[in-house]
Amino acid sequence: RILVRVSRLQGDGARPGVIAVFHDVTDLRRLETIRTDFVANVSHELRTPVTAISTAVETLQLGALSDPHDAPEFVAMIDRNARRLRQLVDDLLDLSKIESRTHKLDLQDLDVTSAVEHAEHLCAEPARRRRVTVTLDLPPELPLAHFDQRALEQVLTNLLDNAIKYAGEGAHVTISARVEERLVALTVADDGPGIPAQHLGRIFERFYRVDAGRSRDLGGTGLGLSIVKHLVELMNGTVDVESALGKGTRFTVRLPQAK
Ligand code: ADP
Repeated sequence: RILVRVSRLQGDGARPGVIAVFHDVTDLRRLETIRTDFVANVSHELRTPVTAISTAVETLQLGALSDPHDAPEFVAMIDRNARRLRQLVDDLLDLSKIESRTHKLDLQDLDVTSAVEHAEHLCAEPARRRRVTVTLDLPPELPLAHFDQRALEQVLTNLLDNAIKYAGEGAHVTISARVEERLVALTVADDGPGIPAQHLGRIFERFYRVDAGRSRDLGGTGLGLSIVKHLVELMNGTVDVESALGKGTRFTVRLPQAK
């Protein structure tokens, strides 16, 4: 798409002329579409739990409140949806902070071990509830990497949380680290159902889910992996996914080694 702006030159009359300026607005239009899609997605995501809460409140007001059997069910529905709203607002705030240019990370030369252990600790309870075994495989002599401690903890927590959520009851999840040329690579691998190949290219997009219903039921917002990708890139690293249907999924984060 080209926008042409034409101005007539008034000059001194000796050489009258016209200036035509060509702007390629393809990128601008694309950004505009991304923005409107994002607002539409956010509105939709917010409306679903709000509607559920209003319906539950109305039902309670219409009499369910005094029914000892129905009342707890509607209160639980309000609780579940309020949590979902909260998670969504938290993720949106995180994303907007990360995307704003003012967000500065504190990049230092650090050992990845403590970030891995912190993420494992935070996910221990959900793992126990879903009977998922989490194993750490960290070589003892890992070189330091250059990263922000809190950002890496958030990245690993999101990946581990997804592995626990989507791999299913009784699954096995391994977090491992290894040295690659000038990099430290961290992998979160599960033996769950995997992700169909046609979705792999899009799962880092905001609100992209393979199965929206399942993600919502599991408390997902569709923002976790886009937060992961942003944070990793702010740390000058990369994140990749490999998946085989019926075998499992592996996310690999690569960070620069300390110089
Ligand atoms: P959500 O809040 O839905 O989990 P994410 O951005 O974290 O959002 O993930 C996007 C989608 O990628 C998920 O909805 C799920 O379909 C898929 N996904 C992520 N991690 C895994 C995994 N370990 N196994 C299978 N599917 C996964």
